Amino acid sequence: MSSEEKEKELSVYESMAARYDVAARKLGLDEGLSEYLRTPNREIIVHIPVTMDDSTLRVFDGYRVQHSIARGPCKGGLRYSPDVTLDEIRGLAAEMTWKCAVANIPFGGAKGGIICDPSKLSQGELERITRRYTAEILDYIGPDRDVPAPDMNTNEQTMAWIMDTYSMHMRHTVTGSVTGKPLDLGGSAGRREATGRGCMLTADEALKRFHWQKANTRVIVQGFGNVGSQAARLMHEAGYKIIGVADISGGLFNTSGINIPRLLAHVEKHRTIAGFEGGESIGAQEILEQECDVLLPAALESVITSKNAHKVKAKLLVEGANSPTTPPADDILFDRGVFVIPDILANAGGVTVSYFEWVQDRQGYFWTEAMVNDRLKQIMVSAFDAVVGYGEKHNVNNRIAAYMLAIDRVAFCIKLRGIYA
Ligand code: NAD
Repeated sequence: MSSEEKEKELSVYESMAARYDVAARKLGLDEGLSEYLRTPNREIIVHIPVTMDDSTLRVFDGYRVQHSIARGPCKGGLRYSPDVTLDEIRGLAAEMTWKCAVANIPFGGAKGGIICDPSKLSQGELERITRRYTAEILDYIGPDRDVPAPDMNTNEQTMAWIMDTYSMHMRHTVTGSVTGKPLDLGGSAGRREATGRGCMLTADEALKRFHWQKANTRVIVQGFGNVGSQAARLMHEAGYKIIGVADISGGLFNTSGINIPRLLAHVEKHRTIAGFEGGESIGAQEILEQECDVLLPAALESVITSKNAHKVKAKLLVEGANSPTTPPADDILFDRGVFVIPDILANAGGVTVSYFEWVQDRQGYFWTEAMVNDRLKQIMVSAFDAVVGYGEKHNVNNRIAAYMLAIDRVAFCIKLRGIYA
């Protein structure tokens, strides 16, 4: 089997576990503790009966995996997709533990998913699925236990339904039971832009190290949804030169720089970058291989593999998406001297502002957007310094450094707490 075929077969959990194993070994973690940290605390499987609009009854399968409560309540998204698997949710839950530990926020990791195709469901059906799923996992969630957030195909409305269902059972309104809520229901200012802003803040720190000027720094962004469009907008406003963007419809490339405000207006109107006349058309995958300084994948997982890693021209890779790079591609990029800001650091801005949202809900006192952005910057900059410093000290790449730092922090808390028997 070629290395390419092998990496294709690595599931999300296996990719996480492969990196985890390298980091745990380098840390010299005790075998038993390593096994404990590799394994989720709890995996919940629910079968949700739902009355459809045509009065038929259907049963949907749902999962919630809680990886770790060592540092605080679990935190993680809920996704709706026909492709959801328990293995994927398990891997993503562990990634959330490491991400929260890298950002040094007091949460552990979780992830949830329901196997369904939202494009084939009415709003009413989606609401009933969401509410029944919430009721099924009710005993395991809550502001002190596990706090869901939006992920693939879920949004502010989904979070409002979860918050309402949870609150009805508790007999009072519990806004801190979810994050990513609408602003009027206890959401946080700055949450929508947070992940893209976090990507930019980490890129800014890398630029300082390289002594690069933003105006001469050419950026390509793959994915123009929440993360990609906000990162492109903020980086454009900050003076970076965005020369390529792509979404599912294809890519756009312009070495003189793309007019991002005009593109955002186009996407607002047409829901796609297709049809925008501000650059030459290029494939959404090909765009990853174009000449640039910064590459910011913000769409799908596993887009940089052993097949194309050697063709990546960027010197700085900022992973907005979760798991855009496969473990074999990591080694190729490292050997070629590409500076990688790994996903659990680069896209941690989202969960960080989710943490701020939870804090604000619990205090009943809401911060201005400037306060949110200022505190986000403090956290992203210190996480960047901690990861890069750790990598330099231990002579490992940034991804393994991020894992080592995170595992070390979680293991330390477990040792302090001891194992309850
Ligand atoms: P989104 O659904 O808002 O946007 C996804 C974008 O990717 C869309 O523009 C879509 O057209 C594009 N896309 C889909 N398939 C593509 C393809 N084959 N080629 C090129 N583009 C393609 O999603 P999002 O919230 O922006 O999340 C993007 C990534 O970032 C995901 O990996 C997600 O897990 C990760 N992430 C998101 C957040 C967040 O706060 N939203 C936080 C952390 C990580």
